[in-house]
Amino acid sequence: MTGTIIFATGNAGKMREIREILQDTEMEIFSMKEAGIEADIIEDGTSFEENAAIKAEAVAQALRAQDGGAYAGAIVLADDSGLEIDALGGEPGIYSARYMGDSTPYSVKSASLIERLAGVPDERRTARFVCAIAAVLPTGETLTTRGVIEGRIGYEELGDNGFGYDPIFCVPACGGRTTAQLTEEEKNRISHRGRALRAMREELEKRL
Ligand code: IMP
Repeated sequence: MTGTIIFATGNAGKMREIREILQDTEMEIFSMKEAGIEADIIEDGTSFEENAAIKAEAVAQALRAQDGGAYAGAIVLADDSGLEIDALGGEPGIYSARYMGDSTPYSVKSASLIERLAGVPDERRTARFVCAIAAVLPTGETLTTRGVIEGRIGYEELGDNGFGYDPIFCVPACGGRTTAQLTEEEKNRISHRGRALRAMREELEKRL
C-alpha cells in the first residue's frame, strides 16, 4: 500500500500509534501540523463516527484549499474516542473530553464517575473505550471504522501510564489491571484506537 496520509491530530502518542500500525506499508504519514493545516473544528456530531467524519472532512477541505500543494491526493484520517459506562446510560460517551469542563483535571472527572457508581457491584460496572476512525479518500468518499475495548470501572485510580480515564478502566483480559498499568506497547495491542486503526488499514488495503 502506498500513498500519503494526513492524520488530523495534534497528539504525539496517536501519531506514534498510527506510524507503528502502518510501518510495514509504504504509506507516508504526516500530522496536520506537518502538513501546515489549521482547521477550527466544531465537533457537533451525535456519535463517535459522526465526530470523526466531521474532523476528517474539515481537514480534507482545508487540504483542497491548499490547491495542488505537496499533500494533494492525500488520504485524511481523524479519530474520535471516549468512555461509555453502562450503569450511567453510556456517559460520558462522546462528551468524555468535555465532561465537567475541558480543563477539569482527570483526577476530578474520574473521582466524580467513581462517586456516581457508589454501591454499583462489580458485574454492573461494565464500560468500554470506543474509537471511531474516519477516512476521507481522494475521491471524496468517507469511510469509518470502530474499535472497542471492554472493561470495568474500578474503585480508585491505579497506574501512572496513559492519559484521561486510563487509571479507572480495568481490563479483565489483562488480569484486572487498569490501562494505566499497561505499557504503551501492551495497551496499543488491545486498545480501541489500535483496533479501529487496524480495521481502517484493512479497508484502505481493499481500495488502494
Ligand atoms: P478525543 O481525543 O477527542 O477523541 O478525546 C477523547 C476523550 O476520551 C479523551 O480526552 C479521554 O478523556 C477519553 N479517552 C479516549 N481514549 C482514551 C484512552 O485510551 N484512555 C483514557 N481515556 C481515553
